[in-house]
Amino acid sequence: MKLLFIGPPGAGKGTQAGKVAARLGIPHISTGEMFRDHVARGTSLGEKVSAIMAAGDYVPDEVTVAMLADRIAQPDASGGFILDGFPRTAAQVESLDRLIGEDGLDKVIVFAVDEQELIDRMLSRGRADDSEDTIRNRFEVYNEQTQPLLDIYDARRLIVIVDGSGEIDEVTDRILSLLG
Ligand code: ADP
Repeated sequence: MKLLFIGPPGAGKGTQAGKVAARLGIPHISTGEMFRDHVARGTSLGEKVSAIMAAGDYVPDEVTVAMLADRIAQPDASGGFILDGFPRTAAQVESLDRLIGEDGLDKVIVFAVDEQELIDRMLSRGRADDSEDTIRNRFEVYNEQTQPLLDIYDARRLIVIVDGSGEIDEVTDRILSLLG
């Protein structure tokens, strides 16, 4: 099973991807987590991306794609995976198509959450890139660069919309039942 989780900042993609991946026995691959791990370890990639992430901008496609391509080539990803936060740009969609084929995905789960609930959640979790200015920019970048990807996947009839509001376990149950 190869799934994408797409949604605006704070939608709970990461939390849900972790839980659903554990249930399905496939890896949860989050490019945001991978970048945060590089920043925490002080690698040269971490040095390259930390200011970009702190501003709420997207890391350049070639950097992101190279990291992701390495990750999905690992043996644990051969039986499927959940991609959380990738692809985020049209160029990343093309790269993913080259890596797994245009018909490589089973479903694209899109999170729908009220914008005020998203902002409240982010301000309460207090991650380094969750300050008010950065949050505003992350929404702008999402609406400009990532929202348009939904049309691409809609044309492929892959999109399933999940109501991401409410309790964590309720949302997980909704996703699992949508996956059948
Ligand atoms: P959220 O979805 O809550 O914004 P993520 O953990 O998915 O958080 O991503 C955090 C940050 O990591 C993004 O704001 C961006 O700077 C960087 N990032 C993650 N994935 C990508 C990607 N696919 N392309 C470019 N930048 C990315």
